[in-house]
Amino acid sequence: MNVYDSNRIKDLFLDKGYKITDDVNKANLTVLNTCHIREKAVEKVYSDIGRIKKIKDKNKSMQLVVAGCVAQAEGNEIQKRSPVVDFVVGPQSYHKLPDMINKLEPTLNSDFLQNEKFKNLIYNSSKLSSEFISIQEGCDKFCSFCVVPYTRGPEFSRPISDIIIELKKYVSKGVKEIILLGQNVNAYHGETDDGKSRDLAYLINKIAEIDKVKRIRYMTSHPIDMKDSLINAHAKNSKLMPFLHLPIQSGSDQILKKMNRKHTVDDYLRIVDKIRNIRPDIAISSDFIVGFPDETDKDFEITMKFIEEVKFVIAYSFIYSARPGTPAQHKDNIELSVKKARLSALQSLLTQQQVIYNKSFLNKEMEVLFEKEGRYENQFIGRTIYNQSTFINSKDKLLNKILNVKITNSTNYSLECQT
Ligand code: SAH
Ligand code: SF4
Repeated sequence: MNVYDSNRIKDLFLDKGYKITDDVNKANLTVLNTCHIREKAVEKVYSDIGRIKKIKDKNKSMQLVVAGCVAQAEGNEIQKRSPVVDFVVGPQSYHKLPDMINKLEPTLNSDFLQNEKFKNLIYNSSKLSSEFISIQEGCDKFCSFCVVPYTRGPEFSRPISDIIIELKKYVSKGVKEIILLGQNVNAYHGETDDGKSRDLAYLINKIAEIDKVKRIRYMTSHPIDMKDSLINAHAKNSKLMPFLHLPIQSGSDQILKKMNRKHTVDDYLRIVDKIRNIRPDIAISSDFIVGFPDETDKDFEITMKFIEEVKFVIAYSFIYSARPGTPAQHKDNIELSVKKARLSALQSLLTQQQVIYNKSFLNKEMEVLFEKEGRYENQFIGRTIYNQSTFINSKDKLLNKILNVKITNSTNYSLECQT
């Protein structure tokens, strides 16, 4: 979502006549769009501010903006601690940045103005083949480890017609794949023009009616919002890609309860069964946190068993990071060495599963959308319908083409193919 937000910030300033430079030494304006989800991401912001301070000391005309969730959570501290920062703006009010810089607004804006924001942004396609669209933002679930409800604010769904207008701009430029984004994307309940509230499956089916859209994806989903309508869309809608990112965080009910996840392991397994019943080839991925307060060896063992049972095609895993203002923050009681050992065991199991999964496609035909040029000449990188990264060497111009290819090789994290 920060990629999407950064593109919007870029579009706002391009519209005002600014130009983009890759060389920060030449910039009159630098915007750091930041993430608050784990401590490491926040440390990076302060070290970037330090780095930019040195450049700014030489280039006095540069203005420095800190945007995003660190700005939201620590705006006052940033202004006190780093006077080098000129403007601080949260993720729900960054449409005001150009005015703030023209000094029509104060130097800190952390209001939750979701509705106003989306109506005042500028939407230009940043890529040719696959484009993100934020359709839902914020969260009302308050998992005990997570900053999102405080930084992105309450759950908000954009109206359907606004999303379609944005999407049509992208597909008219040649974009073929749309990735619908939200912190709780399957909690989507946007309004139609006649004021009816509609769910994610409805939106996906509406989007699929647009000829130029060839592929639809969505992320990130929460187990308690995995409605039958969405599960069924995976069987009925051929443009909806057979991939589901469904974070569980832990395979132990005790820990899920302490995390305030509002679902059990069984609930999760039932969803997996249901969706595999109607779409047997669906690729399922997840997120895990290890070393959550009070996580025992037993809890971790159960999590490993759970992973073995479900068989994920890919998953993201993180060491628990105590976050300010969250209910779990004061009890970070698992030793770092234990956390690291658990993370490494869990990641090696997940990698094993990914390797086996990727190998199962060897010599098979797959449909791939080629999205970008690779590092080498005549190399293109694309994604299979199951979201695997796939390389090809070809003299033909394959950018933005959807082709059936043969998988000739598989490495840990990607596939190789030929036409
Ligand atoms: N809304 C999604 C996740 C959004 S945050 C969901 O409910 O699953 C993305 C991922 O960051 C989470 O799935 C979680 O695995 C990780 N994460 C969030 N807070 C964290 C923390 N305090 N420490 C470590 N990882 C965290
Ligand atoms: Fe954070 Fe996701 Fe939980 Fe919301 S549902 S609090 S975004 S982990």
